[in-house]
Amino acid sequence: MNDEIFEKYREAGTIASTILKDGAREIREGASYLELVESIESRVRDEGAALAFPLNVSLNEDAAHDTASVGDTRIFKRNDVVKLDLGVEVDGYIADTATTIDLGDNSLLLQASEAALDAAIRTIQPGIIAGNLGAAIQREIESRGYRPIANLTGHGLDQYVLHRSPSIPNIGNMSGPVLEEGMVFAIEPFATTGSGHVGEKTRKEIYSQISTRPVRIPAARTIIESIKDRKGLPFSRRWLPERKLDIALPSLIRSGVLHEYPVLADIPGSLVSQHEHTVIVTADGCIVTTR
Ligand code: MN
Ligand code: MN
Repeated sequence: MNDEIFEKYREAGTIASTILKDGAREIREGASYLELVESIESRVRDEGAALAFPLNVSLNEDAAHDTASVGDTRIFKRNDVVKLDLGVEVDGYIADTATTIDLGDNSLLLQASEAALDAAIRTIQPGIIAGNLGAAIQREIESRGYRPIANLTGHGLDQYVLHRSPSIPNIGNMSGPVLEEGMVFAIEPFATTGSGHVGEKTRKEIYSQISTRPVRIPAARTIIESIKDRKGLPFSRRWLPERKLDIALPSLIRSGVLHEYPVLADIPGSLVSQHEHTVIVTADGCIVTTR
């Protein structure tokens, strides 16, 4: 990796880290979900950076992929476990970082995912396999009486690419890619009181473009035009022009132009915590860009 790219990863990381910490302090009982999301997203733009994906704010058993809808009336409630997951990109070089805010009495659950992330980061060095990180994550979470979410993983990052190899599991497996100096990836342990597996809910607010095939319906063309700058990175329904969205969005999904990301949740009534950092592997360990 050349110095210029390295500095862009560092800049994205510093912006993401600062804004995530400030945003986390604003989550309290009675605060507006929509106002929080819009406030954090606009701070990223004010820094001259861009969002690598819509701010994810996922509550309680929801692990990922929720964000504000247009006119969202939700407020944060007592006992909510709130995951804030922020992605910032500078010229396409991505920082992906998440934290959990506890509005109840779940500090041990939060400690589990945080300790798991720390343990995984301490384990990193060139030559080990990604499954070694998963083993460290699983050990920290299970030793505290919770389960890691097995079907969510960390992921490699590249310019304008949010998910690529290596995949970083949240459970130990003794196969998988070997870590190499210069690799960039996000590690994101989830700890849960539930089953340890997420499934898809019907709620969907986040999409990405996966094909550039021509689009005929004018309202659909308007959507594609409005997301051109995303370069394939995810966007929110909330960011789109509202004209005929209810017809145009489903048609773009049916025709395979857009991919939709349903909210991912563990079983009803469970609680999920998440912590995430982005790292660059070095000769003797790693640099955490989002700390
Ligand atoms: Mn993330
Ligand atoms: Mn991630």
